[in-house]
Amino acid sequence: MLEILRLPVLKDNYVWLLRAGPDEGAGADAAVAVVDPAVEGPVDAALAARGWRLTHILNTHHHNDHVGANLALKARHGCTIVGPRADRERIPGIDVAVGEGEFYKIGAAIARVFDVPGHTRGHIAFWFAEDRALFCGDTLFALGCGRLFEGTPAQMWASLSKLRALPDDTRVYCAHEYTQSNARFALSVDPGNAILRARATAVDRARAADEATVPSSLGEEKATNPFLRADDPAFARALGLADRPPTEIFAAIRAAKDRF
Ligand code: ZN
Ligand code: FE
Repeated sequence: MLEILRLPVLKDNYVWLLRAGPDEGAGADAAVAVVDPAVEGPVDAALAARGWRLTHILNTHHHNDHVGANLALKARHGCTIVGPRADRERIPGIDVAVGEGEFYKIGAAIARVFDVPGHTRGHIAFWFAEDRALFCGDTLFALGCGRLFEGTPAQMWASLSKLRALPDDTRVYCAHEYTQSNARFALSVDPGNAILRARATAVDRARAADEATVPSSLGEEKATNPFLRADDPAFARALGLADRPPTEIFAAIRAAKDRF
């Protein structure tokens, strides 16, 4: 039901453009949303090429590489800006504030909102259950997770655990192409993971061919992303952290990544 386009912008950001069919009851047109528009040019070019009219901006968090084009796009298209309630004062032009457990409709497509603090204190994720599509900004990355700029390891582990509970066939639309460097770190802490090794090889091949590695599937993240495995006893033993609480193990992995 959702048509999803990937727009690579800046050095390594992905902006996602979504088109949803019209909401039957409301008698409206199709809806077109852009997730985390860092810049306006590529968004406007993609809209013009398809004859689409922008109706919504969905923001996961307030960082400039996610909200940079909010005001310009709103001025040009009159679109509605949807963002985190916990951070409404830091989202330029916000119209609708949403938070944990709420639903927001884009045309006929329904997004469920998760509060996922850690990278920033107000970070949210949008989960389109019917399409199995998760827009998670800088919280969960392919083979990684966001830096803890404003949150604690315990908050980030809780946020990632919430996302991890979604179905394996969920596609993870994160906001950066960090997969190859994330894979190098993941291999350094989990060298015995054969699924990870195979994935890292596939990632190297894709990047050599200038192909995107995002979206990934949540199932592969569960098997290979070290930041989703802080409560795996075998992994904890391999790290020399047997019987430590998951939050502590997560904190140790995150700290190691910061130094990597
Ligand atoms: Zn960020
Ligand atoms: Fe970012």
